[in-house]
Amino acid sequence: MSESVLDRQRGCLIGLAVGDALGAAVEFKPPGSFAPVTDYRDGGPHRLAPGEWTDDTSMALALADSIGKAGWNLNDQARRYLSWMKTGQYSVNGTCFDVGIATRSALLRFEDWQDAMSSGDDSPRSSGNGSIMRLAPVPIRYASCFPDRIYELATHAEQSSIPTHASAMCVSACRYMALVLAGLIHGLDREVVLDAKWAPLEQLRSHFPLVPEIAEVADGSFRRKKPPEIVGSGFVVKSLEASLWAFHQADTFRDAVLAAVNLGDDSDTTGAVCGQFAGAFWGESGIPEAWQSGLARRDMIENALASIVG
Ligand code: MG
Ligand code: MG
Repeated sequence: MSESVLDRQRGCLIGLAVGDALGAAVEFKPPGSFAPVTDYRDGGPHRLAPGEWTDDTSMALALADSIGKAGWNLNDQARRYLSWMKTGQYSVNGTCFDVGIATRSALLRFEDWQDAMSSGDDSPRSSGNGSIMRLAPVPIRYASCFPDRIYELATHAEQSSIPTHASAMCVSACRYMALVLAGLIHGLDREVVLDAKWAPLEQLRSHFPLVPEIAEVADGSFRRKKPPEIVGSGFVVKSLEASLWAFHQADTFRDAVLAAVNLGDDSDTTGAVCGQFAGAFWGESGIPEAWQSGLARRDMIENALASIVG
């Protein structure tokens, strides 16, 4: 991998954690009800210290660790998520907090059945953003599948969702997002990868059609709307749309993730999803130094990166 590809791979995961940490202090707050976030701050529902991150990053670290230790193995991925939920492994402070509802019930089913292919709820009602928030390790590790083996990339992305989020909207969102992230990691411009007519996207769609809700996002819904129509909700479609809205028009990594977290509500996750796009585009070198040095447990992020890059 060239140095610039490595910078963008690293940026994708670090960006996820930075966006998560920035949003954590205002999670669940309605937009406009808090002083706009401009930096890490303490507090929030989990009473974290500035720079501490939440379940979004914990699950991404578990996924990266699984890929590094077990290759591609969904049961191993689910086992590590369960270990996070039960023991606090992969958590910034050693205890598990902020587990999504769908994730909790899926992991409890996994504990009983030990089958990650059937643990995730596939009902459309269970279409939260819990699998896009942790996706980064997939396009980072399988970056070399782009552009010649995008079906392989899309299949890994889809499968990474299944243990906890098996609905058609969630798996479709993961396929689309992984392709965009892989294009960005390879240094393509965001106008290119976000174009509804981007050739690799058309190829992907001819093989695995996107569900209509995700197709609408891929077709540029995020360009035609603005808040309050853009919302930092926990619904996968809205979360992806909000993250792309914040990313597509920003001048810097900083502007992108702050626009995302300042939507409030599921702010840590909108930040984490936007942070993956922004980090893959601007690279680690585009992430403000103060946010890098202020990120809690950077050693854990580095361990995860060591499992999936190089
Ligand atoms: Mg969270
Ligand atoms: Mg969240």
